[in-house]
This record gives sequence, C-alpha cells and structure tokens, in this order.
Amino acid sequence: MQIKRLRLTGFKSFVDPADLRIEPGLTGIVGPNGCGKSNLLEALRWVMGETSAKSMRGAGMEDVIFAGTATRPQRDFAEVAVVADLDDQQDELEIIRRIERGAGSAYRINGRDVRAKDVALAFADAATGAHSPALVSQGRIGAIIAAKPGERRAMLEEAAGIAGLHVRRRDAEQK
Ligand code: ATP
Ligand code: MG
Repeated sequence: MQIKRLRLTGFKSFVDPADLRIEPGLTGIVGPNGCGKSNLLEALRWVMGETSAKSMRGAGMEDVIFAGTATRPQRDFAEVAVVADLDDQQDELEIIRRIERGAGSAYRINGRDVRAKDVALAFADAATGAHSPALVSQGRIGAIIAAKPGERRAMLEEAAGIAGLHVRRRDAEQK
C-alpha cells in the first residue's frame, strides 16, 4: 500500500485545512518542538481507525478536535482523509474519518458511509493499520523491546498481513 495524501481539518493543532502529498521514500518528519509532527502521525493512525484516546494523548476521543487558542475559538469537528493506492488494486482508496462533538466518529470509503470495521479490514488486508509497526511513534521502540510475547506476535501478524483474518474470525464467531 502506498499512502499518497493526507488531509486534515480541525484535527489537533491543524485547525486550518492542510493537504500533504506523501512522496515515495518519506521516512520521517522534522521540525521544532510542538510544531505538530506527532499530531500528523496520530492523524494517520486515527483515520485508520484508532480507538484508544489515550494513545492519541487525549482523555476522550473528542480531544482530537481543535480545542482553541487565545486567539481562535475551538472547532466543532475534526476530519482526516487519507488517499492510498493498494498494491493489488488499481483503484485509489479515499478514507475519511470525521468526529463531531457529541456525535462520535463516522467513516467513509470512496464517498460511501462505512463501519469502523470496514476501514480496519481494508488496512489489515494491506498489512498496515492504526497499530502497524510501520508507524513508529515516540516511545514506541522501548515498548516493542518490553512487549510480552503475545503482543510481539500481534505485531508480527500485522506486519505479515494476516491480522485481517483474525478480525474476520472474531466477526464470524459472534454471528
Ligand atoms: P515534539 O518535537 O516535542 O515531539 P511535535 O512536533 O511532535 O513536538 P506535537 O506533539 O505533534 O508536536 O504537537 C503539539 C502541539 O499540538 C501542542 O502545541 C498542543 O497544544 C497542540 N495540540 C494538541 N492537541 C490539540 C488540540 N486538540 N487543539 C489544539 N492544539 C492541540
Ligand atoms: Mg512529537
């Protein structure tokens, strides 16, 4: 999978619409402290279906919405879009996640309303996702070293692209 574009509106410090083209070979983001590097990586994890507010450094998921500054009022919603090419598919995928205060998250794939699970499956099958080892956030290296065997196995399965099978099995077992 090749992530080609990331668009943010009202997400954390990115209050104004930002549209980033992600060229092949990008491996890192540099900039002064507090400029929003970690927020960008979190936006990518969030649009892929991250459910843990804590891992987004918030108390609740609405904390991803621009909270306002001395000069600008807070926003009512945050939206992140990612455009990706799947290797085995010609079509581009545009995945959008939006959260409104008091209304929770909604997802769209190529303009169609979908469930969070559909987004998770789309990324799991492409061997990436909110918990992909391809996204290395601050403090993560230490966490990998200290991980229990079961947790490390989950990372390997995600890297191997079989995490989607587990999601489908759990789904089937619930029916
Ligand atoms: P460092 O180099 O220290 O790791 P960084 O570039 O990773 O910095 P981030 O952690 O991405 O910086 O951004 C931090 C900034 O984002 C802080 O100024 C913080 O106030 C701002 N921020 C986070 N959440 C929100 C929010 N909901 N609304 C407005 N600003 C926010
Ligand atoms: Mg940071």
